[in-house]
Amino acid sequence: MPDGAQPVLDVRGLTVVFHTRAGSVHAVNDVSFTLQPGELLGVVGESGSGKSVTMMSLIGLLPSPPAITGPGEVHFGGRDLLQMPEPALRDVRGGEIGFVFQDPMTSLNPVFTVGMQIAEPLRRHMGLSKRAAADRAVELLELVGIPDARRRLGDYPHQFSGGMRQRVMIAIALACDPKVLIADEPTTALDVTIQAQILELMQELRERLGMAVIWITHDLGVIAGIADRVMVMYGGQVVEHAPVHELFSNPQHPYTQALLKTVPNVQGQRAKRLTVIEGQPPILLAPPAACSFRDRCPHAWELCHRALPQRYPMAGNHDAACFLCDPGLAPTRPAATSPEVQDA
Ligand code: ADP
Ligand code: MG
Repeated sequence: MPDGAQPVLDVRGLTVVFHTRAGSVHAVNDVSFTLQPGELLGVVGESGSGKSVTMMSLIGLLPSPPAITGPGEVHFGGRDLLQMPEPALRDVRGGEIGFVFQDPMTSLNPVFTVGMQIAEPLRRHMGLSKRAAADRAVELLELVGIPDARRRLGDYPHQFSGGMRQRVMIAIALACDPKVLIADEPTTALDVTIQAQILELMQELRERLGMAVIWITHDLGVIAGIADRVMVMYGGQVVEHAPVHELFSNPQHPYTQALLKTVPNVQGQRAKRLTVIEGQPPILLAPPAACSFRDRCPHAWELCHRALPQRYPMAGNHDAACFLCDPGLAPTRPAATSPEVQDA
């Protein structure tokens, strides 16, 4: 997809804070990104980096309290989703924006049959009759590889295995031909064959409908295979963003570099050893005022402890939030002091 085309989703300066008894957790800090029609944006980062909270906040899925979403803007179809009243947002959710989250609040409802749960968005968002919705539900279940689909419409979620429930969730997310699919670790519970099947189905919908996808995963191998662009998150911030090949061949942020070393088998290369990133993720009790990776970074110097790096743009639609990428600072920067990773 051409650069600079009208994005289907345009997120600017998104911020989410959880107000809890233990204090305020600044889970998402000034996150900005765009999504072009038909493209697949991969989102990676270790656990707690704010991937799920970012994507849930876009479509108003976070419980409030404790979550406060904003400031920020989420432009979709000429509207700002953060300003939209809940009933209107409900029409977008599950209609124009499909989603699969692992959070129990967005999972299948145990008291309704699977057939009812697939038919509901079809009737509500697409105005299908009861019969047409049931037929479409069968089609969707077959698409995601559920055998004996028509008979299974009358079954309740507990009658399906975990992997089968996951497939039902994907069927629901795709039911209304969404413009955007947000998929949060959607294939982790599935075996490889089904994973491949789901990925293929999704690729087909991207081609046929121009559906854009946000794919959250910890699996950089999957990302290497399917993403157009990748956004790396750390400490509730976007620390690096680039086209997929650029990110894998030319990572600029020390966190991305360390993360790539943890992948045993990216792009068919066998790593000699599996590594982990030393140290702990940051505690997010205050908005970031300095680099959030500074305590784990082999390149950190004095500046990194007192100032917040911006996302510095580079050639190739690439940016990284690291002072190493600030061309104005290059001459004053000291050399690296310690190894980046340790053996697992
Ligand atoms: P990821 O999906 O990248 O693993 P999350 O987006 O789930 O990370 O979480 C980001 C941060 O938000 C974490 O520090 C997490 O503890 C915090 N968080 C998520 N949900 C809540 C909540 N309900 N109350 C307080 N903090 C939360
Ligand atoms: Mg998550």
